[in-house]
Amino acid sequence: MKRVSHWINNKVVAGTSGKTSKIWNPATGEHQADVDLASTRDVDVAVAAAKAAFPAWRATNLSRRAEIMFHIRELVEANRKEIASLLTLEHGKVPSDALGEVARGLENIEFACGIPALMKGGYSEQASTGIDVYSIRQPLGVVAGITPFNFPAMVPMWMFANALVCGNTFVLKPSEKDPSASMFIADLLRQAGVPDGVFNVVHGDKVAVDRILDHPDIAAVSFVGSTPIAKYVYEMGTKNGKRVQALGGAKNHMLVLPDADLDMAADAAVSAAYGSAGERCMAVSVVLAVESIADELVQRISTRVPNIKVGSGSDSESEMGPLISREHRDKVASYVANATKEGAKVVIDGTSKASEEGFFLNPSLIDNVKPGMKCYDEEIFGPVLNVMRVDSYEHGLKTINDNPYGNGTAIFTRDGGVARQFQFEVNVGMVGINVPVPVPVSYYSFGGWKASLFGDQHMYGPEGVNFFTRGKVVTSRWPDPRTSRVDLGFPQNR
Ligand code: NAD
Repeated sequence: MKRVSHWINNKVVAGTSGKTSKIWNPATGEHQADVDLASTRDVDVAVAAAKAAFPAWRATNLSRRAEIMFHIRELVEANRKEIASLLTLEHGKVPSDALGEVARGLENIEFACGIPALMKGGYSEQASTGIDVYSIRQPLGVVAGITPFNFPAMVPMWMFANALVCGNTFVLKPSEKDPSASMFIADLLRQAGVPDGVFNVVHGDKVAVDRILDHPDIAAVSFVGSTPIAKYVYEMGTKNGKRVQALGGAKNHMLVLPDADLDMAADAAVSAAYGSAGERCMAVSVVLAVESIADELVQRISTRVPNIKVGSGSDSESEMGPLISREHRDKVASYVANATKEGAKVVIDGTSKASEEGFFLNPSLIDNVKPGMKCYDEEIFGPVLNVMRVDSYEHGLKTINDNPYGNGTAIFTRDGGVARQFQFEVNVGMVGINVPVPVPVSYYSFGGWKASLFGDQHMYGPEGVNFFTRGKVVTSRWPDPRTSRVDLGFPQNR
């Protein structure tokens, strides 16, 4: 049986806890590997390696760190199919989706290649007579990332690209459900020239997370996962004096106004609700349909849903893969079963023909959903699309703003004025205008509002650089040193 162990000092290191967790193949239901679960001692060894590597790494000049990022970029690009196949094997997502994940992660590495410009400070000459003042940004030290199962390659890239290039050393704790992509990527980082100890991976559960949260040598924690754990990580980490950004769960609404192109809205709703089997924090889980077009929209969505090809990622025809585990599949199915009892109308029941082999679930569509129903109030994280009927734009907006989550949302309309008003008054961090999954490009930052984010800084992009650095301001006065000398060599910085 394959065993996934930790990655410390650029080497695979066996765990010492004696505890493992099973890795399933979601497409077959087979137990395909085991992963070591770190003890506190294992975490301490990784943090010690990162701490020892920090002084030399932070002293490595920006050109060299950028050069290593370029190498990482080339290696990830060259190995994108291998990474994608690991995602399909352990997460279950189909190859087109897996390749998309790698591409969106790669964007963050490309952004980090520009670090010499991104870390530029400010300078004020002659702030006082003979005195100049300037600001610089410096790395924090050892930082950690804790990531969810649904993007085993992209979310680590959201974090480590900026963290490393800013001069920090890193300890990653990926999801124990699909940990192999992070090991493969760790080896690419080694090949790219990342020195020993600069990037480490520890696998584990709450024991590892708790040690990260109370380890005195970890300066900052970047977390992505469900809201209850995000809140816990934020509270424990900040209590222990760490900088924390903790991104949580979501319930994303797509508001469709009567003037929208209904075919485009139906295509978008189906793609955004069922892509990756709904296991995306930016998935559309609720369509808010203004009453006058609601019947028509539900009809157009329901004609598209049966065309989705559900199947294993090993079949090139498949568009939607299985869910991550049997328990999760059964939990998702229970929301559909419960919806009828709560008074909603199940238009398409994808739960009836769940296959015995693998953790597949067909897509479901539920109409007449209302707040107070479990399928509306809770994050389902599966291939279930709710439709809620609203009277007007104002009713739709109020529904979104009353929801405790605020990750992503979208409006579908042809009216630019209304779309602009929506962007102005909706209490959600990422907004799509006729775009159903508005994941920002890597030179903006990613983050929700309300219960979808604990902390001040969003992930990646400029806010990612801020998160992984701290500012310092220098006030300086110099006598004229007259120390010049003749040097005919071409000026260089390495
Ligand atoms: P999860 O919260 O169960 O796990 C996330 C991480 O926390 C994992 O590394 C896991 O090992 C660890 N963890 C789990 N239970 C823990 C505990 N009791 N104590 C300490 N650590 C614990 O999330 P998941 O199921 O892996 O991922 C799905 C969730 O992540 C969904 O809620 C989804 O919306 C969310 N998500 C959010 C974003 C975002 O950007 N906001 C992105 C992707 C996923």
